[in-house]
Amino acid sequence: MSQLLFSLAFLVGLFWLVEHLCGNKRGQPWRRPQMLTDALLYAFDALVTKPINLVLISVVAVLFLVPLGVISWEALKAGQYQGFGPIARLPGWGQFLLAFLLGDFLLYWIHRAFHGGKLWRFHAVHHSSERLDWLASVRGHPVNDIFANALLFFPFLLLGFGPGAAAGAGPALGVFALLGHADVDWDWGPLRHVMTSPVYHRWHHSKDPAAMDKNFASFLPLWDILFGTHYLPRDRKPGNFGIAEPVQHTFWGLMKHPFRPMPSVPPPVPPARQVLPGTADSTTVPP
Ligand SMILES: [Zn+2]
Ligand SMILES: [Zn+2]
Repeated sequence: MSQLLFSLAFLVGLFWLVEHLCGNKRGQPWRRPQMLTDALLYAFDALVTKPINLVLISVVAVLFLVPLGVISWEALKAGQYQGFGPIARLPGWGQFLLAFLLGDFLLYWIHRAFHGGKLWRFHAVHHSSERLDWLASVRGHPVNDIFANALLFFPFLLLGFGPGAAAGAGPALGVFALLGHADVDWDWGPLRHVMTSPVYHRWHHSKDPAAMDKNFASFLPLWDILFGTHYLPRDRKPGNFGIAEPVQHTFWGLMKHPFRPMPSVPPPVPPARQVLPGTADSTTVPP
């Protein structure tokens, strides 16, 4: 519990500096609507969802590795598992790099899958924030998070990655997940098509019809460029966040959201925030 509070306090302080000193929250109060809802979801993720993920991953690893003779139960229990096959023989940095790139590629397709069919109702919870900032990044349904983590983990297990490589790549990608939602107009200038930025992912959350089902990438925009889902206009900034369907912005309202009937007619969508040359906003995005 103390670790949870420490990490929350660290992130609150860090992103207060980012958003209130360098971002779009300059001069705004530190509190915003639905902050308590998102804080509860942060706690639920740390105390419930992540432990379930860990148990699930451990059970599957045991059921796969021990019967196939990759490692004995005793050695696994003693924490001696280091992967298997050619990937496990790579140096640590090579495994980390490969895990990071493979994880990023898999996350693109997992994320894209959650934008269709029945999976969307669970992912819609993540997209329901209308005041998008770093804390909104933790808004998610546990079914979304557990299912996505399982889909991400199984290929790593089958390919023989050591636990260290996957454990390092996860937090590295997680940093971009937090930063990608921050209320800043950063797009990394000349590197805007090389790695994802807050502007990049905030477009993913926009209700603007042109931005719908775009920018699925976690780190490399390359995946969106290759698979036809890239959207990064230079003359506008992302705005008008949220989803078309009605949402109850409470902890239990969001938990129950995927199981509510889907409304047949979505409300109209206003355009995203415009940036006009010469305005104060236009100076925050490098040309
Ligand atoms: Zn999404
Ligand atoms: Zn997001």
